[in-house]
Amino acid sequence: MRTLADNALSPKSARIYYLHRHMPTDSLSAIEGCWAACLRNCGGGISHEHLVSECLFKDQLIFVQGLPWCIDKPKPVRIETLTGKILCKDHNAALSHLDATAGRGFDAIRSAVELNEQRGKFPA
Ligand SMILES: [Zn+2]
Repeated sequence: MRTLADNALSPKSARIYYLHRHMPTDSLSAIEGCWAACLRNCGGGISHEHLVSECLFKDQLIFVQGLPWCIDKPKPVRIETLTGKILCKDHNAALSHLDATAGRGFDAIRSAVELNEQRGKFPA
């Protein structure tokens, strides 16, 4: 039985949908190792993709836990070093606009939270 959660868009499937809508699909090229290769419009060879979008975190030092090298204890990692060869250059470039837009959305949320915190310091 499928649940509502099964039908929800995962971040990966949302990105596949974005790429499908914003890139031509006539090259019929699929690069091994590109997670968007199912779209068959890869190009430029495999590239280093950030595993976590840099724009999501104000502080560029994050703590990671649960991966083979940090299974038991959180380890500090500079966010720009968390990359993997998981996406071709064309798909990586096509997603940069989406990442920038997501970053602006998170900036707006951060600003709203900071404003709410500042307002909470004043008497009602
Ligand atoms: Zn690709």
